[in-house]
Amino acid sequence: MIKTITLSLSPADAADEQIIKKHIAQEAGISPKRITGHSIQKRSIDARGKQVRIILQIQVFIDEHEIVPVPFDPRLKDVSNAPHVVIAGAGPAGLFAALKLITLGYKPIILERGKDVRSRRRDLAAMNKEGIVNPESNYCFGEGGAGTYSDGKLYTRSTKRGNVENILQLFHHFGATTEILFDAHPHIGTNKLPHIITAMREQIIACGGEVLFGQKLTDILIDKAAITGIKTADGTRIDCKALILATGHSARDIFTMLHDKGVEVECKPFALGVRIEHPQLLIDQSQYHCSTRDPFLPPASYSLVAQENGRGVFSFCMCPGGIIAPAATAPGEIVVNGWSPSKRNNPFANSGTVVAVDERDFATYKFTGPLAAMHYQQMVEQSAYNIGGGKLVAPAQRMADYVNGKVSTTLPDCSYLPGIHSAAISEVLPSEVHAALKKAVVDFGKKMKGYYTNEAVLVATESRTSSPVRVPRNKETLQHTQIKGLYPCAEGAGYAGGIVSAAIDGERCADAAVQWLKNA
Ligand SMILES: Cc1cc2nc3c(=O)[nH]c(=O)nc-3n(C[C@H](O)[C@H](O)[C@H](O)COP(=O)(O)OP(=O)(O)OC[C@H]3O[C@@H](n4cnc5c(N)ncnc54)[C@H](O)[C@@H]3O)c2cc1C
Repeated sequence: MIKTITLSLSPADAADEQIIKKHIAQEAGISPKRITGHSIQKRSIDARGKQVRIILQIQVFIDEHEIVPVPFDPRLKDVSNAPHVVIAGAGPAGLFAALKLITLGYKPIILERGKDVRSRRRDLAAMNKEGIVNPESNYCFGEGGAGTYSDGKLYTRSTKRGNVENILQLFHHFGATTEILFDAHPHIGTNKLPHIITAMREQIIACGGEVLFGQKLTDILIDKAAITGIKTADGTRIDCKALILATGHSARDIFTMLHDKGVEVECKPFALGVRIEHPQLLIDQSQYHCSTRDPFLPPASYSLVAQENGRGVFSFCMCPGGIIAPAATAPGEIVVNGWSPSKRNNPFANSGTVVAVDERDFATYKFTGPLAAMHYQQMVEQSAYNIGGGKLVAPAQRMADYVNGKVSTTLPDCSYLPGIHSAAISEVLPSEVHAALKKAVVDFGKKMKGYYTNEAVLVATESRTSSPVRVPRNKETLQHTQIKGLYPCAEGAGYAGGIVSAAIDGERCADAAVQWLKNA
């Protein structure tokens, strides 16, 4: 007999296989000897009550042989001599598009402006230690895209479960732990992602695909409203009938190139604000109702939303036990984001805390047209740079000081390696964003005990939450509304937000491109 059982266990019990088995037997009302096997299908944390519980959904085999699932098969083929599709960008979208093309018998040629994951590390060190930004190799640009040196949170709002499962299976196949297959909030960690990304690239090349680093797409060639090829910065020309454009939300040169060529792009609302960092202990105490965290529980996280002055304000990309990272892609601007190692064992908890902005805001600063949001975003990032302490030193303010309009006389320890500089965040952010953020911070403090504190620090600016531009595409064919064979893909084109949804969109574009090539 096969049964699905739900257990609610203490964190210590949930970490012990023998105790889990005992509880299964109790719940099923049978002797433990009759259990021939079990596997966890889902694991989540319930922190609503005084005692935090781990909820396990378990498939149990009673009196019969355990059915071991057939190992996942990515169904990859040799595509060395197959027709090709060009992919611009080796982020999650580009890599998963390439893997999908290989399963469909097509050869991917990936162009990536940045470096491989290993070489990329040196440029990240230069950002953190010397405040130097390499515009081709940074936290957003390079192999694995913005997802490589991230927390590797793999949650998505996508409801198409099958698609999500396939992405998780592929991450697992290339080296992620089994936990990502059943955790309600799976994450990989910055220390593990580079190995997984490298394994994906090696597989793509082993199948006959190409991954070309230091190759920046600079132009697309169009004839009779159809893609005929691309050009890169060093003058290389590659003919192609299909181009998957997966260059991410920070490729401002791509948005500008499209606009200048008369290829339709649209202004897109996004969200803007700061990264807020608390001591992790404080978040644990608040979320787990304790003085110190149970060693069997992971560092706690939170998710907060509010409506202030008619605008959505929300926490974003929360990194328990994390580090605030410099995510600028050009000199003279400050952008912050966050990452965590797999153990999430840093003493800080950070999250983006951002306010929705739209055309009204852009127009206030006289930014109009399809690139208005992009210019507005850049203006705020440059303002953060000018008000910060030079290089990548970021403007920062303690939370209560920010709300009370007082420049902080001291700043707490902060994980942001380039350093922070005491400043009035109200001068960095547009006034409407500041007004909504200030109210939200106070309201969040009412919702979550311990959140509103001068031990927390606001670091400016969190601005790359989603793309400021949408590249329009046909809902069915996924091709650009004007140009056949051009597939605007994932986050940069406005169709994804986060690693998993970008990967799913990469697969969808690969599928659509193959359909088109077969019928062309
Ligand atoms: C520090 C940090 C932490 C994050 N944490 C998480 C997280 O925990 N979970 C999560 O879901 N999301 C996280 N994100 C967001 C996530 O990384 C992105 O949503 C995701 O990577 C988007 O995938 P993408 O493939 O669409 O674009 P990207 O990942 O942005 O990839 C685009 C790629 O295109 C390349 N490119 C750009 N222009 C060109 C050109 N002209 N020619 C050739 N190549 C080009 C870039 O170098 C880049 O490699 C994080 C982001 C950052 C920066």
